[in-house]
Amino acid sequence: MARTPFIAGNWKMHKTVAEAEDYIQALLPRVYSADGVDVAICVPFTALQAMVDSTRGSRVEVFAQNMHELSNGAFTGEVSAAMLTEIDVHGVVLGHSERRQCYNETDKALSHKMVAAFSAGLKPILCVGETEDERERGDTERKLRHQVQEGLERLTPEQIAQVTVAYEPIWAIGTGKVATPDQAQDAIAFVRALIEDKAPDAAEHARVLYGGSVTPDGAPELLALPDVDGALVGGASLDPENFARIVDAAVQLAAS
Ligand code: PEP
Repeated sequence: MARTPFIAGNWKMHKTVAEAEDYIQALLPRVYSADGVDVAICVPFTALQAMVDSTRGSRVEVFAQNMHELSNGAFTGEVSAAMLTEIDVHGVVLGHSERRQCYNETDKALSHKMVAAFSAGLKPILCVGETEDERERGDTERKLRHQVQEGLERLTPEQIAQVTVAYEPIWAIGTGKVATPDQAQDAIAFVRALIEDKAPDAAEHARVLYGGSVTPDGAPELLALPDVDGALVGGASLDPENFARIVDAAVQLAAS
């Protein structure tokens, strides 16, 4: 089963609307012919509408970086799935380690957010990954098991088949320390096995990405790993040329 490679750029809290417009005008011609690869930018709430409008008719999808699990209520500062789909946002990043660490996002809340995303027609990217301490203690698999099992807990097999999980070792995010090919392959194969436990027929369709200090130079080796279906890219996605080079690497592998 050939899964379509997926390259997603997570801007985090970067770019005003004006900066986002400059970026997308530079990116679109660079990824115009990125056949066989899905491309998304995950942008701050304030830039979503502008990016949806500017990417219409292109291959670039626009994702939010978070959303609330409920459809409305007294949750100051939060945004619901329906608020995202109303403006034609395609998907949402859920459970990024920065949200888990800085905003106490829990696996339980994420299990509800995954359902809310699918119910609204949003494509979720569920982020999972271990800290450096957990890796050193030999707890990587325990952590991943917990995060993947809870994150997928409330989904149907049909939904699991459409899921994207991003394996992002926390010690590799924004640090310049990339997982070795063996570390990335082993963890991602383990994530796929967990998906298979939950929904045997869905596992070959679900995509598992690597994230953590991916650069244009390092991308080809990571993207070529057998279980890696693409990348969630933070810092390197902020520059349209660097991001386009990572997309190019995926295009070349898809064509080979
Ligand atoms: C991320 O934000 O998901 C990420 C992987 O960041 P970076 O590529 O900068 O490590």
